[in-house]
Amino acid sequence: MAEFYVTKESQSDTGHQVHRKDCGELPIIDRLWYLGSFATAQAATNKANGIYSPVTKCPNCLKDIR
Ligand SMILES: [Zn+2]
Repeated sequence: MAEFYVTKESQSDTGHQVHRKDCGELPIIDRLWYLGSFATAQAATNKANGIYSPVTKCPNCLKDIR
């Protein structure tokens, strides 16, 4: 399990980005919405999709994770 966050503010190119808690490019906490602990990045992204749209996965921390 890992903890995941999603950015509250949408970027024009990436929308709301999902990050792992240990991401090296994690924005400051004030700009993040805590999603919770999930077994997969996809599960975290599904949760984020219920809150924000559009949602993308961070290419830094979730590049190789489903
Ligand atoms: Zn990230």
